[in-house]
Amino acid sequence: MSELFDYDLFVIGAGSGGVRAARMAASKGKKVAVAEERYLGGTCVNVGCVPKKLFVYASQFPEQFHASKGFGWSQPGQSVLDWSILRDNKTAEIERLNGIYQSLIDNSGADLFDGRATVVGPQSVAVNGTTYSAKVILVATGGWPFIPEFPGSEHAVSSNEMFFLEQLPKTAVIVGGGYIAVEFAGILNGLGVETHLVYRGSNLLKSFDREMSDKITAGMRDKGVNIHLETQITSIEKNTDALLVNFASGQSMPADLVLYATGRIANTDGLGLDKAGIGLRKDGSIVVDDHFRTSQPSIYALGDVIDRVQLTPVAIQEAMVLVDYLYGAGEAFIDYDNIPTAVFCQPEFGTVGLSEEAALESFDNIAVYTSDFKPMLQTLGGGSDRISMKLIVDKATDNVIGCHMVGEHAAEIIQGIGIAVKAGATKADFDATVGIHPSAAEEFVTMREPTR
Ligand SMILES: Cc1cc2nc3c(=O)[nH]c(=O)nc-3n(C[C@H](O)[C@H](O)[C@H](O)COP(=O)(O)OP(=O)(O)OC[C@H]3O[C@@H](n4cnc5c(N)ncnc54)[C@H](O)[C@@H]3O)c2cc1C
Repeated sequence: MSELFDYDLFVIGAGSGGVRAARMAASKGKKVAVAEERYLGGTCVNVGCVPKKLFVYASQFPEQFHASKGFGWSQPGQSVLDWSILRDNKTAEIERLNGIYQSLIDNSGADLFDGRATVVGPQSVAVNGTTYSAKVILVATGGWPFIPEFPGSEHAVSSNEMFFLEQLPKTAVIVGGGYIAVEFAGILNGLGVETHLVYRGSNLLKSFDREMSDKITAGMRDKGVNIHLETQITSIEKNTDALLVNFASGQSMPADLVLYATGRIANTDGLGLDKAGIGLRKDGSIVVDDHFRTSQPSIYALGDVIDRVQLTPVAIQEAMVLVDYLYGAGEAFIDYDNIPTAVFCQPEFGTVGLSEEAALESFDNIAVYTSDFKPMLQTLGGGSDRISMKLIVDKATDNVIGCHMVGEHAAEIIQGIGIAVKAGATKADFDATVGIHPSAAEEFVTMREPTR
């Protein structure tokens, strides 16, 4: 460690990116501090990916109970959800993970400060009333849900509160068309809540392949979600026992809960970045260069707070690249192309590479292969689910440039296909791969004739 500084690296925020950076830097013999003001593990562990996926599992049981009948199972009595058991078991599991994060940090040798940190200079951080000097400061403070202000907006909750509800509502209105909105629509609907998804745009998940987003919309409707597109809320009124949601059309709807999933903004407010002369975008996110350096050479930032790709594995990879740049060979890199991702809506969606719309813009000549079929589980199970798959191929090179799937296990399947796409696999490589039978995934290697 430099004698001039208390720390080689001071990390603000113990979320996905911050913890990985702190541990990796400490493992390289650096003196590291991490400050966390709320919860170890950050958004993903506490109010994001992990509790969300647990709730998705919970919400899928009614369909499984239903499907089991066609396979000969009967269930004496009615299946009833006890929300408090689900919520509290989830919280206990998250607390277990918080403990694991605590051990990871402790065992790495980094110092952990339990408190809110602020940047008080290019190489100084204040936390719990003490100022520490650091050769390098890393801002990994993540993001926070954004609810626009309008009459009654104080009655709406964000995704943060959804994980700790006292009671499950009977009727819920979810506002938004992004992945968090559609995921919560699936969760609440599956848990038996009358669910209304309200979005001002004309199609959900608009940054993804349009054909796939239309299939998801249809699938969600089939499962019972009430989807109101091109619909805007003007106000929310609170009556004695319910909320009244008023729409621009003049119509109103009573609801027990209104969830706004209308985006997230970078957590930079009051962080002191202005004092360190750091450039922010209008939305508060931090501008960084290819090495995650801000406009102040001793201060770096990564993860959701730089607003590139707001995903946990991306924040983690950025952290590893940064530590390699600062303390290693400097050879690690992150390529933001072909990042596989999933939306845990119901039906589930997995995707890697370009949408058909983006491919048409970037390539002169593409071939599109599609397949839509009933999954085997449904043959005896009797549900309405289907599986849709799509491959997009650049005809000039035969490279598969986009791969999308709606339906059961889409996330698991696309993770594997993501390796092939990342490695530059051609359609001929897909065709030469022997399928696994009987599986849904085998369809990806048996689509012979292009649809268009
Ligand atoms: C509902 C929901 C579902 C999601 N689902 C997925 C998913 O399925 N897959 C996926 O890949 N991603 C998902 N994400 C996104 C994922 O959670 C984020 O991309 C990821 O957590 C970003 O990591 P980060 O390190 O940048 O920030 P965070 O994990 O948000 O960590 C930032 C940490 O900094 C702390 N902090 C902030 N300011 C200060 C301060 N001044 N002093 C001290 N500490 C501070 C915060 O308390 C927080 O713990 C989801 C997000 C949400 C909200």
